[in-house]
Amino acid sequence: MAITNRLPLLPTTEIEQDAFCRTENELTSLPLELESQISVQWQKIPEDYYPLDSSELEERISAAKRRLGSSLLILGHHYQRDEVIKFADFRGDSFKLAQQAVAQKSAEYVVFCGVHFMAETADILTDQNQRVILPNLAAGCSMADMAPTEDVTDCWDDLTEILRNGIPEILPVTYMNSTAAIKALCGKNGGIVCTSSNAQRALEWSFSQAQRVVFFPDEHLGRNTGLKMGIPLEKMIVWNPFKPLGGHTPEAIQNAKLILWQGRCSVHTRFTASQIEKARIAISGLNVVVHPECPMETVAAADYVGSTEVINKVVSEAPAGSSWAIGTEISLVNRIAAENPDKTVFCLDPVVCPCTTMYRIHPAYLAWVLEGIEAGSINNQIIVDGQTRQDARIALDSMLTLV
Ligand code: SF4
Repeated sequence: MAITNRLPLLPTTEIEQDAFCRTENELTSLPLELESQISVQWQKIPEDYYPLDSSELEERISAAKRRLGSSLLILGHHYQRDEVIKFADFRGDSFKLAQQAVAQKSAEYVVFCGVHFMAETADILTDQNQRVILPNLAAGCSMADMAPTEDVTDCWDDLTEILRNGIPEILPVTYMNSTAAIKALCGKNGGIVCTSSNAQRALEWSFSQAQRVVFFPDEHLGRNTGLKMGIPLEKMIVWNPFKPLGGHTPEAIQNAKLILWQGRCSVHTRFTASQIEKARIAISGLNVVVHPECPMETVAAADYVGSTEVINKVVSEAPAGSSWAIGTEISLVNRIAAENPDKTVFCLDPVVCPCTTMYRIHPAYLAWVLEGIEAGSINNQIIVDGQTRQDARIALDSMLTLV
């Protein structure tokens, strides 16, 4: 059994989540010299980028993009700020964007305006001659940071030691929002990667081969999917990496069907059932749609649950005049509201909290990496090493075979 001596420290990205929260819905970008005063980690870049305002940056990014032409592909995650996503050739969730990177083979430079695990996934899936760049290396993900490789490997070793009576007794499944190393662990051990859209299919695929699944790193997506599949709560246990055997007896592990890694999204766990209750009292006929990274009570109180793509679709296709409270990241909620002026659309959480790691892709970083490419200097290239790439690819390919 792995001995756990470390203290239960929260990742820095989680502690920093409140740094950008505010009470007014005003997310216009300021020069980096002002934004970087907010006490979160920022990657240092040359000083002349710090005082540039939005219009100067827009001009420089547009010019660099024009000059780089088809050798450049800019991908923008739905949660990016407006001043960055407007330069994206494609918008989408992490997997849709990685697919775009694969499809655009003429693009030598893939600038991924998202977070670190997304750029890693794009590097794994793209050809070796394509270079994936993350504009700010401090743009991580608090959820992915809650599943360090060493802890996940210890958990897997403990589980396989306890559950070694049959073949196979357990499969590892990881959400896309995890490091390449965790995806590789899944690939090496017959497991699979999933997204928020195909988590149920990935679990069904896994249960067709094994009696149990350990699900990394989001306990909420895992639990919500398990409940949807009819797995009772008492058959799901949460693995606490700071306790021996995750805080369970060998019998409890034997008895479990779904073992959930204790991890969460610092953005989606802000949404609560009580916010839904208050919103419904305030607006009659209100519709509520939330992301499956929200806690199960929130999901149970909502009318719809789904990925960012589903949220977008449900609201866009709704009748004019309908009212929508959305439980997902504020930049996307604001964009859906702007694109649906015939409906009332607002964020379920009255406090405005962008994803603090996504928000670190300030336009100054985008300008810096693009001008770097032009000058022949590739800043912030994300490279996944050969073996990790190969193993992670197995788990990603298994996901691609899901119907
Ligand atoms: S919204 Fe949550 S899961 Fe997505 S990148 Fe931000 S912290 Fe990670």
